Amino acid sequence: MPSALPLSAALLSLLTASPKAPAPAAATKDSGPSTQVAGQLIGAALAEGHAYARLAELTDGIGPRLSGSEGAEAAVQWARRSFEADGVKVWLEPVKVPRWVRGEERGRVLASERFGEHPLSLLALGGSVGTPAGGLTAEVIEVRSLEEVATLGDKVKGKIVFFNHAMREAADYGKAAGLRTRGASVAAKSGAVGMLVRSLATASLRSPHTGAMRYEEGVPQVPSVAVSVEDAELLHRLLAGGPVKVELKLGCQTLPDADSFNVVAEVKGREKPQEVVLLGAHLDSWDVGTGAHDDGAGVTMVMEAARLIAKLKPAPRRSVRVVLFANEENGLRGGRAYAEAHAAELGQHVAALEMDSGGFRPLGVTLRAGPGGEELVRPWLRPLEALGAGQLLAGDAGGADLSPLIPARVPFVGVRVDSSRYFDFHHSHADTLDKVDPKDLAQSTAAVAWVAYVLAEVPGVLPRPEAPAETPKAPSAPSVAPKPSAP
Ligand SMILES: [Zn+2]
Repeated sequence: MPSALPLSAALLSLLTASPKAPAPAAATKDSGPSTQVAGQLIGAALAEGHAYARLAELTDGIGPRLSGSEGAEAAVQWARRSFEADGVKVWLEPVKVPRWVRGEERGRVLASERFGEHPLSLLALGGSVGTPAGGLTAEVIEVRSLEEVATLGDKVKGKIVFFNHAMREAADYGKAAGLRTRGASVAAKSGAVGMLVRSLATASLRSPHTGAMRYEEGVPQVPSVAVSVEDAELLHRLLAGGPVKVELKLGCQTLPDADSFNVVAEVKGREKPQEVVLLGAHLDSWDVGTGAHDDGAGVTMVMEAARLIAKLKPAPRRSVRVVLFANEENGLRGGRAYAEAHAAELGQHVAALEMDSGGFRPLGVTLRAGPGGEELVRPWLRPLEALGAGQLLAGDAGGADLSPLIPARVPFVGVRVDSSRYFDFHHSHADTLDKVDPKDLAQSTAAVAWVAYVLAEVPGVLPRPEAPAETPKAPSAPSVAPKPSAP
């Protein structure tokens, strides 16, 4: 557990309601959010280190939480107990989730007259079929894009297609993720027998990064793995000199769907309890690492925001509801189940915010609302200035689990964090507690708590965004950082 975090003098001065501050005004009964509450919420989030302590329980205590696993079930029970301990009303909503298990896996570059044997550092992609017990051995053919596969014609037949697109920065994830999610079926349509993808990573110490993939209906299902960046570079060098053969042995398989839950908790509003400000994060993680940044950090931020808001007297005007979604990583069943179960009340969801870009320091606030939304939010961001997050930033707000709420025109608000290093760890063995800075986590927690309180307390509500031209396809292979719309 980290020691209490000292408040800087600058921050303290901002948190102490100053009569000179242009906005927000000090609270009266109907004037909206109170600057004293800013001091309470932000001060407690920074000083108590509660979110980090909770993150340690979830990551070190429970561990990985892939849908359908014992860890996922333990996390549901842990979250329920934790909300109860915080005095926040909590309930579980059933969700059927896919259950994919990794099994044993290995791969190697077979020796040739030009080079010796090389073991491959790899991870099967979530959803992949396994190989026959004896393994799969085939020549590798390298491409940079999905489009390139079709241009190769017969050369792909019987080969393992290797998608070697280098991801230079976090913003590149949206594009690169398409290779991971769709590459296997694109390759199989041209007769490939397997698929390798260079890990979607912005840094590597030979650590492979997994993630979801999906098979198109009616297309042969071929084994699919991510190789480490270093092994992708090795393959590229070896392929420059001639043919390269790889052997894969994968024990992964998909078992029957399992029972799981969205964990839902709520602080009831004092005046308009039927109006809901939703705070979301996903409780599941991949089966490697312990999902500290993805998305244990988001989980503990929104849990802590609810705990702090629940202590306020009086309670905010509207209800603040936390949803810890099941199965964001490999199915999005939790997000869909929530939208379905609550369809009748989505018109009363006045705002939704999902934290799923890592436990980094906050940079500012984003918005997806109708005209006039910025004017409603901007005056209340001043208390976040001391955290460096007082700006309304350009760009969309959202989150994979919130995407099923888009047709109901629920306004989205985001606390954007500095995700520039997110993909160093994302979906890998390296996503562990030590990568999360307690101070950064506390600052983002503070920002989430304040923004949630503001949305629940301001007299007006955000104008709803335009209905999408057509119902967007819900992303099926999510987890996203800088651009929440990426798959
Ligand atoms: Zn995530």
